[in-house]
Amino acid sequence: MGRRRRIRWDRVLIVFGPILLLIILLCVKCHHGDDEDPGNADPGTVESMTVSESAQDSAAQPAQSEYRDLVLVVDAGHGGNDTGTNNQAETRFEKDDNLRLSLAVEDALNRYPHVQIIMTRETDVYVDLQERCDIANNANADFFLSLHRNSASAGNGVEIWINNDSAGDVAMDKLMAEYIMEWLEQVGISNNRGIKKGLRNTSVEAESENYYVNRFTNMPSCLVEMGFMTSELDNSNFDTKLNEYADAIAGAVMELVTDKGIYTEQHGVPASWSTTTRKG
Ligand SMILES: [Zn+2]
Repeated sequence: MGRRRRIRWDRVLIVFGPILLLIILLCVKCHHGDDEDPGNADPGTVESMTVSESAQDSAAQPAQSEYRDLVLVVDAGHGGNDTGTNNQAETRFEKDDNLRLSLAVEDALNRYPHVQIIMTRETDVYVDLQERCDIANNANADFFLSLHRNSASAGNGVEIWINNDSAGDVAMDKLMAEYIMEWLEQVGISNNRGIKKGLRNTSVEAESENYYVNRFTNMPSCLVEMGFMTSELDNSNFDTKLNEYADAIAGAVMELVTDKGIYTEQHGVPASWSTTTRKG
């Protein structure tokens, strides 16, 4: 039998003490970690959220994130090989006038805050009709505005076309067309030819037909025929009042969305608002 070993507690403590201490520290740290929500790791975040929530309650004001920009598509008709119509001398082409007006409308709309403008073309390029609709539909645009010019052996003035068989927010198309016509009349046009539905120059059987961009865009849309290229008077008006017409078109659309409570200059558009249920 060997001699009885005496446990040297002082040595045990010296050797195992630090290890024990380390284990205790680790356990405390792990336990604390379990209680933490990674999303609220910073106590400052939790505090600021509480403050902003109480501010919301008292002011009943939704946070800025509950708003978005108003999305407007401006569609310059024709382009590239598709010249559209022309004047009698064939020295002036619709695609160029449409682009000039569309770019001026873009400038006018750019003066409003919280508005995103999407152009289907900004240069003299061909854009397929379906592509124009896709651009608007993919962007979930709020309104679609197609700008064209007219032609005929006789006649002059402005007409605005809307979808014939639209449902739901159909009133919004009509209202947009009416607002635009009213604002253009204030600038001065040779003739108000009215708000029209469907498609120009179609037979009775095809009455339900519509301009392609009115038919295949999901949002309220209208197609403005900004006077006749075959009318000297309309061409003169177009050239001398181009910027006034552009301001009027932009002003009309913005007045409509403001009147309807869709948009405010302060916030833009409530994120929950949508017009994409218009077409049946
Ligand atoms: Zn056209």
